Amino acid sequence: MTRSKSWGFPRWGGYGATDTEAVTVRMCEWEDCDVKGDYPAPKFRDSNDRYWFCQEHAGEYNRNWNYFDGMSKEDAEKTKRKEENFARGFREANTWEYVDAGLTKEERERRTALEVLNLTEGATEAQIKESFRTLAKKHHPDTNLGDARAEERFKSVCTAYEILK
Ligand SMILES: [Zn+2]
Repeated sequence: MTRSKSWGFPRWGGYGATDTEAVTVRMCEWEDCDVKGDYPAPKFRDSNDRYWFCQEHAGEYNRNWNYFDGMSKEDAEKTKRKEENFARGFREANTWEYVDAGLTKEERERRTALEVLNLTEGATEAQIKESFRTLAKKHHPDTNLGDARAEERFKSVCTAYEILK
């Protein structure tokens, strides 16, 4: 998932222009991309606002878009939060809603740990162990060579297990 890429305001630049023949074309809005942006992509569902990307980045944007498509707003946010918890690797188990709920740091960590292991309050020891085994295997660095995110997730899964067991 690479939705964290930021898209800036429309960029305009010279493309294939010579000194005598200045042509202004729309550039791909993907961060750090310097080719023409000929492919429109809706900014939000049912929106007439468009991003303009090159073919490659339009494809990538659409794949990410589809990731959340069909999810309710709540599910999309939950998924996003889980991704973020994974990414943070428990450096901070301080999501605003948990702080709002008046939970202690230990309770917040426990909630986050359960979320990382795809479990809910009241999970049995056997369920915790099984979920840990499945996810640790899935995100193990040996089977995800060079994938920094898998490594982060693997660490998170291990930390979650340490907290819960
Ligand atoms: Zn591009």
